[in-house]
Amino acid sequence: MKGTHLEALLYGRVFNFSAGPGTLPVEVLEEAREDLLNYKGCGMSVMEMSHRGKDYEAIHYETINSLRQILSVPEDWGVLFLQGGASLQNAMVPMNLGIEGKTPNYIDTGTWGHKSIGDAKKLGPLHIAWTSEPTNFDRAPADDEPSFTDDASYIYFTSNETIQGVDYLRDPDWGCDVPVVCDMSSNILSRPMALNRYDVIFAGAQKNQGPAGVATVLLSPRAIEIAKTKDLPLMLSWAEALKADSIHNTPPCWAIYICGLYYKWVMKEGGLTEMASRAEKRSSLIYDVIDGSEGFYVGHAQKGSRSQMNISFRAKDEELDKKFIQEAEANGMTTLAGHRSVGGMRASMYNAFPISGAQALADFMKDFMQRNG
Ligand SMILES: *Cc1c(COP(=O)(O)O)cnc(C)c1O
Repeated sequence: MKGTHLEALLYGRVFNFSAGPGTLPVEVLEEAREDLLNYKGCGMSVMEMSHRGKDYEAIHYETINSLRQILSVPEDWGVLFLQGGASLQNAMVPMNLGIEGKTPNYIDTGTWGHKSIGDAKKLGPLHIAWTSEPTNFDRAPADDEPSFTDDASYIYFTSNETIQGVDYLRDPDWGCDVPVVCDMSSNILSRPMALNRYDVIFAGAQKNQGPAGVATVLLSPRAIEIAKTKDLPLMLSWAEALKADSIHNTPPCWAIYICGLYYKWVMKEGGLTEMASRAEKRSSLIYDVIDGSEGFYVGHAQKGSRSQMNISFRAKDEELDKKFIQEAEANGMTTLAGHRSVGGMRASMYNAFPISGAQALADFMKDFMQRNG
């Protein structure tokens, strides 16, 4: 069964709770379909045109400018579109920002932070300034909890841990005058933010801004200065990418084009304030059911760190989790199984996820509890 919402009736679409790649706006998909065979009369698709021709160049720079506009990125910051996903940045960060004789400081709040630490460690020693591993990654630290080294080259954190559903829900102020790096893959563009707290922000596009195949990287002037001193292979160098506006080799043109459509959609819908309001509405619908369930449902993250993008929760026992996921699927709500490391369920609801989908899940959760409580 596909449900009765408009997208279901028109296109047979389900409510897709996937953690990534995630739901895209239907308007974006419709526009891409419109342009698929013949982009605006130029006789070919975006996938087929030269990345050095004027049609693609227009798309490319418009996409960069839209992202700059949405996030109010200052002129002297760099905006890159790179391949290798968010994961390649795990290596590119220490390569481009590390400083001989200084120590990278990492905050470890979940699976993604952990992976990044694993990659950075292969490139040099680092310091773990804070970890929630002993409590199974159930919260983000307060600003004064991590203990940084005096010789920190940079501070690294993950603003939203996609698997555990743990979010800072703020722009942390670490109170140190060193570059701050943030993996914002799963909550970028979901709320307004204070860019001046950061020096490097990176994000795989496939959660909150487009399809897989491209990662966005924002660089502050001081991050650019450090990166310029590095002599790195072409594809591993932020400075090389910056010099060529990310056309230092064939960029993922199609993915960038879809991001461009997505950014325009975000602006048309009301920008980051509106995205934040929708995220609040969607996630409250689900957290309210969890909190009112008298223990039938249990959330993974502590209350002050609850993600508005990824809600990890479980039912009273594992048998019920399985039944929940199966029945939800039969009701047009897919991909609700939690990551194998956390178990239970995970509802991922990014920018483009409709509020009606969150309502449908909340209603289903209540009904399921009544039948199995
Ligand atoms: C999904 C995700 C990644 C990995 O992204 P890839 O583009 O697949 O490399 C990294 N960090 C976070 C926080 C994520 O959610």
